[in-house]
Amino acid sequence: MIEYLGRSGPPEAMNCPALICDTCREQVVDRGNVIWGTTAGTPGPRRSTPLYVAHKGRCDLAFDKWFAQAYPAADGWIQLWEEAETFMRQLAHNLTHAFADDPGGEYHQHILEGSRPPQEKP
Ligand SMILES: [Zn+2]
Repeated sequence: MIEYLGRSGPPEAMNCPALICDTCREQVVDRGNVIWGTTAGTPGPRRSTPLYVAHKGRCDLAFDKWFAQAYPAADGWIQLWEEAETFMRQLAHNLTHAFADDPGGEYHQHILEGSRPPQEKP
């Protein structure tokens, strides 16, 4: 998840936003994925999951197993992902570009459904 971590020490105490791996709870630096699920393409209202984060590799594989149980494909869920670096660029872009000002696209409503994976030690 995207979380704030407290930091103490010079020059001052701060709260630092960071990507925290939902599998091992360590900070994701460079090699990570932002992961979510959607029911787009199935009948009924479009549902989506919260955004999750996982290190590439072992953490990603463990997360995928949890996701498949928490959000079963039989219920219409599909898992999507984006590399963390690309996700951050898109998020920064969308901070200054309103969806309402996009004349060429249609943004869909969705229902957010959430669950958290069990935590593992690295
Ligand atoms: Zn991890």
